Amino acid sequence: MRAEDWASDMELRERDALLARRRNQPTQLGNGVCRECLEPVEVQRADALRCISCQRDHEHRQRIKNGGRNV
Ligand SMILES: [Zn+2]
Repeated sequence: MRAEDWASDMELRERDALLARRRNQPTQLGNGVCRECLEPVEVQRADALRCISCQRDHEHRQRIKNGGRNV
């Protein structure tokens, strides 16, 4: 197989995977809006459920719920 064939094959596969992932996106996956404060989530983590500060709060709360242990 020639290198460029391989490359375009990879591209196709990657695109298919991306489309499939978009189609099968679980509902709990973020839509670019923080589920807690409803502010837009930072672009670099657009798939996240929460913005960075809410995520931190959330993790903090989880930690407290789990007995306040940090490990
Ligand atoms: Zn938020």
